[in-house]
Amino acid sequence: PSITRGVTVEIPKVTWEDIGGLKDLKKKLQQAVEWPIKHSAAFSRLGISPVRGILLHGPPGCSKTTLAKAAAHAAQASFFSLSGAEMYSMYVGEGEALLRNTFQRARLAAPSIIFFDEADVVAAKRGGSSSNSTTVGERLLSTLLTEMDGLEEAKGILVLAATNRPHAIDVALMRPGRFDLVLYVPPPDLEARCEILHVHSRNMKIDDDVDLRRIAEDTDLFTGAELEGLCREAGIVALRESIDATVVSDRHFETVKASLKPALTRAEID
Ligand code: ATP
Repeated sequence: PSITRGVTVEIPKVTWEDIGGLKDLKKKLQQAVEWPIKHSAAFSRLGISPVRGILLHGPPGCSKTTLAKAAAHAAQASFFSLSGAEMYSMYVGEGEALLRNTFQRARLAAPSIIFFDEADVVAAKRGGSSSNSTTVGERLLSTLLTEMDGLEEAKGILVLAATNRPHAIDVALMRPGRFDLVLYVPPPDLEARCEILHVHSRNMKIDDDVDLRRIAEDTDLFTGAELEGLCREAGIVALRESIDATVVSDRHFETVKASLKPALTRAEID
């Protein structure tokens, strides 16, 4: 990927199969992202305007970024990734310039997806502060709104944003023609955890005694990121036991599992 300060560009390699669970969500994203790019003639024929922005929200580590990348891969779209937090910390005017520049480059590289991580930092509710000075967040938000409104004529550009704090997002972004689609990305249920464990152990040499389904049952509230870490750590434990190890066994998974506690709590997700 090419990297300039604050933004990376690539066509990601991640595919839908790399993401465990979330079947319906993947289907919705497929329709919203792939169809307008692959079947733009059909959209024009029927006079339907495609979705311009999608907001993904949900707890950290549950594949919001990975879903955005898989969507870009499926559509073979250039993927421009911006970090809200990084833009916020830039010098006066630099974040706005980066935003404008990124939309410009995305137009040239279309089909493109512009992805905002930690979008709530950039798109936070306008504070109604009594002073006349506008805050960094307000200036970034107004630039983003201008750019999104300008997408009307631009074909093949879609904005995806991810946040753990959807309530912090300014309602102006939820108007039609902006973030038309809001999707919740939940923590994985049992089936999804099972699939995630399969995804992240498929390149590992796993012993016959490893029962991924049982591990999935024992890992309620674990996020995809935590399950990925569990698989990796189990491999490390096997190596620590013997640097000549040829397989990762159930006891290695058990050792790691016993030492982990999920960061999420039931109260946070219900
Ligand atoms: P954050 O809010 O912290 O940015 P996120 O929701 O964007 O998190 P990702 O960055 O997409 O999460 O995922 C973190 C890691 O966890 C990735 O390396 C990804 O492979 C893994 N992961 C998370 N969910 C899944 C899943 N459903 N299937 C496979 N891997 C997953």
